[in-house]
Amino acid sequence: MRDISRRRTPAPGRLSAVFAVAGAAVLVAVASLSFQRDRPVVETPGAPPTTTSALTGLDPQARCDRAAGLVTARRRWPMVCSWRTPGGQLQGQAFPPPPGDPPFDDPHIEIYVDRSQSAEDLARAIAHELGHMHHTRDPRFVPAWLAARGLPRGTADEIWTEDYAEVFAALFAPPSERWRATTHRPTDADLARLRASFFGDA
Ligand SMILES: [Zn+2]
Repeated sequence: MRDISRRRTPAPGRLSAVFAVAGAAVLVAVASLSFQRDRPVVETPGAPPTTTSALTGLDPQARCDRAAGLVTARRRWPMVCSWRTPGGQLQGQAFPPPPGDPPFDDPHIEIYVDRSQSAEDLARAIAHELGHMHHTRDPRFVPAWLAARGLPRGTADEIWTEDYAEVFAALFAPPSERWRATTHRPTDADLARLRASFFGDA
């Protein structure tokens, strides 16, 4: 957190920093590039091809709307969906609140839909981005989160933010074996505890 407010936030939102930081590390090199100051949270590589059955024939936004029905958390922010660029690695980006200088003037999530992505996998991507919206750009709960997850103080922003988003996805998206963070996957008991402690309003 200290790094968050100091290192890359010349401007008023210490948040940009976080975000700047957040996307990066974890899953992908691609992500890392996005963590420069004032950048949105960029995501990890896209999901591997799965089935398209339930979504065939739908445009990106319609696919997202369908998949969002599988996400049990409330969505309080706009969701803009588009086709993923062929060969693209990003599943989405989050522009968490509170509003600030562009691109954070309009809190929302963007989802880049792969044509082969299943509704379940798309739902998980949506939930992951929603997780980023919940940690916001002013994550004062970081010490508590690190403690709850058994992560050391000073854990890089790009590590804990992806951990947080994945926990969120594990709680509110269809069950999946996937775990996109570099942290350890929580047990079901841990998930229940984290939900009670951090996501009571989700
Ligand atoms: Zn993420």
